[in-house]
Amino acid sequence: MIRIKERDDSGRILDGKEDVTHLLILRFQQMLSDGVLSPGTKLPPERELAAHFKVARSSLRQALKVLEILGVITQKVGDGSYLNRDASSVLAVPMEFLFLLDDTTVEELVEVRMIIEPALAAKAAERANSADISLLRQSITELEQSERNRVRLVASDLLFHRAIFQASGNRLTGRLFPTIHRAMLHMITMTSQLVDMEHTVAFHKPILDAIESRDPERASRLMTAHLIDASNLLAQGREQERARVLRDHMAATPLRVKKRPSAAVDPIPRESTR
Ligand SMILES: [Zn+2]
Repeated sequence: MIRIKERDDSGRILDGKEDVTHLLILRFQQMLSDGVLSPGTKLPPERELAAHFKVARSSLRQALKVLEILGVITQKVGDGSYLNRDASSVLAVPMEFLFLLDDTTVEELVEVRMIIEPALAAKAAERANSADISLLRQSITELEQSERNRVRLVASDLLFHRAIFQASGNRLTGRLFPTIHRAMLHMITMTSQLVDMEHTVAFHKPILDAIESRDPERASRLMTAHLIDASNLLAQGREQERARVLRDHMAATPLRVKKRPSAAVDPIPRESTR
């Protein structure tokens, strides 16, 4: 199941960003369990990491971005990358399962989210403590400050949903999040390309308000509306993608018109339809 393309005999280095991400996750898991890395550790500079893992620096940079969105590391501008305190919980998810999720469809994820997230939002309205509320607030502030920074935008959207999983006050659902966050990350990354930050804020804020007002029914209803909107956006995004592929195809393949008898198009005389 796990296929990590290490440097092969020809000396080719890893270049696929997915491969590098998987490799980094594996190595981090290993180093955490060996006790070489501990939560909060500052990672070596990019240049050293790239040399150590034998990957291209551009691929490493992309992989680090993905790890940041997943909540494994935090990148500080002009400083470096740090392993998050809760990195081990994300990394504790079995790799097989993380990869398995790559085979699930967005429709399956939307279905699961529709089943659980409105119920979790309702539970959060009943049980959220002050720490949960401030995390939810923080996610909205970060979202509002994410202007034109897609990585931050996606990360803060994901943080909001993670906070609701936690705020539901059920430790099992809290643990459920790491198992679907990868698929959720893909989904949010897709939808974030289609709307601006204000669109997401307009959904998140009222949900937080319902949770703070201890109104489970409203929290659930608003979460359902948010997910229906996301699922519509995905459908719209897919439509745009199809149109783009068709446009590109038509641009790349000039039309070869061959005059032939119009037997294929045989219009029925108008009178005969009457
Ligand atoms: Zn959201």
